[in-house]
Amino acid sequence: MEKETAGERPGIPTDRKAETDPPFSGKYYRHFASGDYLCASCGASLFLSDAKYDSGSGWPSFYAPCEAGAVESVADHSLGMDRTEVLCGKCGSHLGHVFADGPRPTGMRYCINSTALEFRGNDERHPKR
Ligand SMILES: [Zn+2]
Repeated sequence: MEKETAGERPGIPTDRKAETDPPFSGKYYRHFASGDYLCASCGASLFLSDAKYDSGSGWPSFYAPCEAGAVESVADHSLGMDRTEVLCGKCGSHLGHVFADGPRPTGMRYCINSTALEFRGNDERHPKR
């Protein structure tokens, strides 16, 4: 009898050299709870859920960091592309990239890897009594 292979998913690429999650795969891609997103490396506050939106790109997207200086932007010319890399303003961890095609009010799209983020919900900060 032939082995049933229909419905098997193609393997997820394990190539991580670009340090980017495969699109539509990250744990925070469709995550719209209220709270803030911290750096997974050092715990610094990076983005608020208020600034998160669905850009359709497949990655968690924000139009602004939680405060000026929370993230750093540096030019990234790797892979033959002109992009702006986003780093944690505190520890310098790679977070993702920022593009100038976001919504109002900033016009920016911070495209961030789920693996670089740690979510802290408002319920955890202000437990109900
Ligand atoms: Zn950090």
